[in-house]
Amino acid sequence: MDEQQKVATHKLFINGDWQSASSEQTFFTHNPATETVLAEVARGDMADVEQAVVAARHALEGAWGRLKPKDRSRLLYAASRVILEHAEELALLETLDSGKPLPQARKEVVSTARYFEYYAGAADKIHGEQIPLGPGFVNFTIREPMGVTAHIVPWNKPLNILARSLAPALAAGNTAVIKPSELTPLTALKLAELLAGMGFPAGVVNVVTGYGEEAGAALAGHTDIDHITFTGSAATGRAVMKAAAEHIKPVVLELGGKSPLLVFADADLDVVVREAVKGIITNCGQMCSAGSRILVETAVKAPFLEKLTAAMQQIVIGPGVDSPDLGPLVSDIQYGRVANHIDIATSEGAHILYGGGRPPHLARGYFIEPTIFDNVLPDMYIAQQEVFGPVLAAITFQDEAEAVRIANKVPYGLVAGIFTNNINRALRLATRLQAGQVFINDFYTGDEETPFGGYGQSGFGREKGLAALHNYTQIKNVAIRVRA
Ligand code: NDP
Repeated sequence: MDEQQKVATHKLFINGDWQSASSEQTFFTHNPATETVLAEVARGDMADVEQAVVAARHALEGAWGRLKPKDRSRLLYAASRVILEHAEELALLETLDSGKPLPQARKEVVSTARYFEYYAGAADKIHGEQIPLGPGFVNFTIREPMGVTAHIVPWNKPLNILARSLAPALAAGNTAVIKPSELTPLTALKLAELLAGMGFPAGVVNVVTGYGEEAGAALAGHTDIDHITFTGSAATGRAVMKAAAEHIKPVVLELGGKSPLLVFADADLDVVVREAVKGIITNCGQMCSAGSRILVETAVKAPFLEKLTAAMQQIVIGPGVDSPDLGPLVSDIQYGRVANHIDIATSEGAHILYGGGRPPHLARGYFIEPTIFDNVLPDMYIAQQEVFGPVLAAITFQDEAEAVRIANKVPYGLVAGIFTNNINRALRLATRLQAGQVFINDFYTGDEETPFGGYGQSGFGREKGLAALHNYTQIKNVAIRVRA
């Protein structure tokens, strides 16, 4: 790969200014569909994180902190409009950087704008309450911002996951330091540029690009941040939590899953197939909430897998800019991880029903076929560990009790899908499944308004909806003695 070719260069965004990393170091991002260099980006480290945190603290104590809630609300609303005006540019950037199909990138940009719109509506409604203490007392609570918030963002939905935490943090009056993934930093930088251009005061939103173990670790371990939102792997989540513990900082962790679709014999199999395909090929399976386990009642296993295989055969694979169904994985490292999962599953005795390799017509890029494994047992590695690729594990069950047992017997608990035409069964199971979100007769159901987060090793804290605002406020109680 020729790293010397002329590509766009990007600096850090700190205190309203673009600046090189203090080390003057840079790194390159790549287009996963072509493996070519896409951009040169500043490699921020601890010194740059320090500057960003100081800027964010200064903004909090200055112009931003003095803004009325209704003015914050107006700014956030205006931001949602500006994002939509730049939707095509943002979507294309995201597709080139991450590999995802352009139509999906467009959807994620619309959802990004929606986060700003939704939390714009909430910014001036963050109320405290009055608590009666009886004669002689007045007591009320105030919801104050946490302060300087850190946002460590992964590469699978770089702009959208950033907006998911940034918009509520800003709505609640916080300032932010963002560390995007080194694989996909471009849309975070573009968003910062757009926000600065429309009047967000300097220092409110800062972006320090760089490596996870440098800039990311420096941010997670900084003594003067007040809150961390992290989305990514359980291993890095653990490291972030340890760093946060050093200075007793609160964290929200969103760490992925091994989410099941429970398919009962009375379900509409055509609907299940459509939703199962969506659940595993969206973003090339690189979704924390991917439906990566199909738990199917033995009686319908054969017809279901036949329909599922037929549907997979229709999937069009190609570069994201061509709007295929399935784009490439994000990187060669991710390709290696997914291929390794496929090898382990095969060696443990699971059977590849469809896919399992590189599509023959694509010589370059990190493309992998959608893959279905049959004969999977619940304790196999492929049934327990997150693949983060378009790889489905099909497991059978005899009855409801067994389905619940298998569904819950993984370390994760992010989402679960139930497919049945028996409403009593659906609602019964919804309470028994260990998952933060339950979808019935659909997948990826819910929106910016609905709380999202995990049980077990999928993490803790809730994003999206009004629930997310609580991450970014702290309650102060004020008690007054009224003297005669
Ligand atoms: P990571 O968890 O390592 O990366 C997530 C974010 O954390 C990135 O911004 C990364 O920066 C940053 N980071 C890395 N190391 C540190 C650190 N020591 N301190 C603070 N921040 C850090 O994920 P990977 O990219 O390694 O992916 C591995 C696996 O994680 C995937 O296969 C998938 O299973 C899971 N994953 C889950 C996601 C989800 O949505 N829940 C999203 C992404 C991955 P940088 O990228 O620059 O290293």
